Amino acid sequence: MISFTTNSENETEKIAAIVGKHIKRGTTLALMGDLGAGKTLFTKHIAKTLEVKSEVTSPTFNLMNVYEGICPIYHFDLYRLDNVSELYDIGFYEYVESDEGISVIEWADKFRSELPVNTVNVNFEVLDENSRRISFSGKGEIAEDLIEMLGKGID
Ligand code: ADP
Ligand code: MG
Repeated sequence: MISFTTNSENETEKIAAIVGKHIKRGTTLALMGDLGAGKTLFTKHIAKTLEVKSEVTSPTFNLMNVYEGICPIYHFDLYRLDNVSELYDIGFYEYVESDEGISVIEWADKFRSELPVNTVNVNFEVLDENSRRISFSGKGEIAEDLIEMLGKGID
């Protein structure tokens, strides 16, 4: 696991940009943390780094958005979902198992057992108004490589 403390929106954006620069197709990012912790902001800056031109907004009502950039980004928000059957309805498994794009899932901890083995967990903790602790963890090779890259101080 690796953790960073950010003291502004801008510092969180920088971490997202690093992740966006190094992320591989087929990766699933499971974003966890309270409302207002920074999950959508983080997703926006991953998308920006991947050259998405369309607007990135939290898919709280439509549950999923697809953005076209260097590769497709499947942006989920599971806040309003309660049952696994609803995941089937929105095609969740096909997207997260695809090697074409990147899946970014807000409120992923609601369906922890449905996430692929390769998932990178990204936990957002609110420390105070402008500070967040962002922690990356995961057991698969993709997560380990990403954590190692983040540990190198990278650019
Ligand atoms: P979530 O999707 O987790 O509900 P959002 O990304 O929509 O959260 O909102 C995060 C809010 O927290 C934004 O209003 C942002 O400006 C604010 N914020 C303050 N400090 C930070 C920080 N260090 N990192 C990320 N967001 C921050
Ligand atoms: Mg959000």
